[in-house]
Amino acid sequence: MFLPTTKDEMKKLGWSQCDVILISGDAYIDSPFIGVAVVGRILEAQGFKVGIIGQPDINSDDITRLGEPRLYWGVSGGSIDSMVSNYTATKKFRNSDDYTPGGKNDKRPDRATLVYTNLIRRYYKDTVPIVLGGIEASLRRTTHYDFWSNKLRKPILFDSKADYLIYGMGEMAIREFSTALDKGEDPTKVRGVCYISKEPIESYLQLPSHEECLKNKEKYIDLFDDFYKNNDPISAMGLCQKVDNRYSIQNPPCDYLDEKEMDEVASYKYARELHPFHQNQGKVKCLETIKFSIQTHHGCWGECNFCAIGVHQGRTIRTRSEKNIIWEAKEFTKDKEFKGVISDIGGPTANMYGYECGKKLKKGTCDDIRCVDYDRLCKVMKVDHSRHLKLLRDIRQVPGVKKAFVASGLRYDFIPADKKYGYEYLKELVNHHISGQMKVAPEHTSDRVLKLMGKPGKEPLIEFKKMYDRLNKEAGKKQFLTYYLIAAHPGCEEKDMHELKQFTTHELKMNPEQAQIFTPTPGTYSSVMYYTEIDPITRKKIYVEKDRARKEKQKNIVIDKKYYQRRKDSNAGMQS
Ligand code: SF4
Repeated sequence: MFLPTTKDEMKKLGWSQCDVILISGDAYIDSPFIGVAVVGRILEAQGFKVGIIGQPDINSDDITRLGEPRLYWGVSGGSIDSMVSNYTATKKFRNSDDYTPGGKNDKRPDRATLVYTNLIRRYYKDTVPIVLGGIEASLRRTTHYDFWSNKLRKPILFDSKADYLIYGMGEMAIREFSTALDKGEDPTKVRGVCYISKEPIESYLQLPSHEECLKNKEKYIDLFDDFYKNNDPISAMGLCQKVDNRYSIQNPPCDYLDEKEMDEVASYKYARELHPFHQNQGKVKCLETIKFSIQTHHGCWGECNFCAIGVHQGRTIRTRSEKNIIWEAKEFTKDKEFKGVISDIGGPTANMYGYECGKKLKKGTCDDIRCVDYDRLCKVMKVDHSRHLKLLRDIRQVPGVKKAFVASGLRYDFIPADKKYGYEYLKELVNHHISGQMKVAPEHTSDRVLKLMGKPGKEPLIEFKKMYDRLNKEAGKKQFLTYYLIAAHPGCEEKDMHELKQFTTHELKMNPEQAQIFTPTPGTYSSVMYYTEIDPITRKKIYVEKDRARKEKQKNIVIDKKYYQRRKDSNAGMQS
């Protein structure tokens, strides 16, 4: 059963008022993959009455649909930052939206978090607290570069009319925060919460002020370094940043869920459907992939510099138990729409399931070194695919499951690195868990660009491809590798794209059909590079392509099917 999204539903439940109303930039999709739905279920399990309004109509009083909550409003831009969702890397408007019924992108406002907060204030001048959450608010919680306005923006609490912000996955924070408000206690002590204060907190780490960041790009890099490092519940300090005449306070992160709690959150009775309120508007595309998918873990320690997952979810893997995952697969088989195919068994990086660094679990992430980088995998991290391997085998034994795909990204460099199980694991994937192709994400092959991306060098890719090709040959299968590639990442020049083209042709023996132009999204080192034009590690100047046409040109170099013919023609032209 869904949580209510109309007064009628509230009435049927015998409620006169919700304790909490959650507003989202997505339609109301009740799924463990949708943050607002998860938060709703967590609060429901705590005994709170929760209503959800997905994609409220901003041109009417739709935001008042459920009345005013007793404790607080929770506002999220949705599963994706609304600016990323609404615009391409070259700032063209996107026509489609996978989280909007009917698929037409006409229901998610730009800067949805700010718009919804303003709407609440318009209709309820003196209301209960407004609490921001979700990826848009979380990654914009301190001074950040905003690509769409091409400037540094203040922490989002200062731009909005909200009172608090809960950052990261926030499962623990949301519980403690709600309990505090319910008991009439001060919620500013809760871990994982940000708020504005008139006074600094001296014991917190003092970040460069917003003003200093505006004046000095190096200060902005310093700020981001501190923001990035203080992200682990075990070791992080609270952060304090002066903004105008007030202070942005970020309490240390809330604790991660342990395995039992992960299982519990995954086991709530999600409808795994779009709420009927939206259904006459059409289907939501995202359900095609998430309806029968299983999330095995949270977190990622890959630290690709262009990706914010490590900042948002944390760099420590939290795993669900095998028993609970198998239970979920069995639940699928009871659904009359289930055709025996599990779309994905994975997480942010599928093959991080089931192992972690012991040091990290005791003392938190290391400050000055990464678990994995361009040219090294930390010796303390013992990559071990055995648990995932067994899990995949067990899932295949579930009666009613005909096929279970691993469609989430995986780190191809970990497979040759795992001498004990890597080969066997890949064999299992090739034989049972992919369909015609496997997607991997080298993103580039120029060493200089790869270092800036925080991606592994090309040798593991070559080694992986050899293993993959051999296993396919042995299995008598014709399955391909497809590659995610990025053009115009900071540091990437046209010559690097030519190098990439040579590599894809001669080493990978293929012509890429797609490459993405880099988008500087909030919360990543790559965005810091884009804005500052400085390598944050060496603090040296780097080339950054900012011209839209030249970005397109970089992309076209690698996907051009007639590349060699054109090069030949142009060389001939120069010689004549
Ligand atoms: S010891 Fe190595 S694997 Fe463990 S947290 Fe530190 S860098 Fe990562």
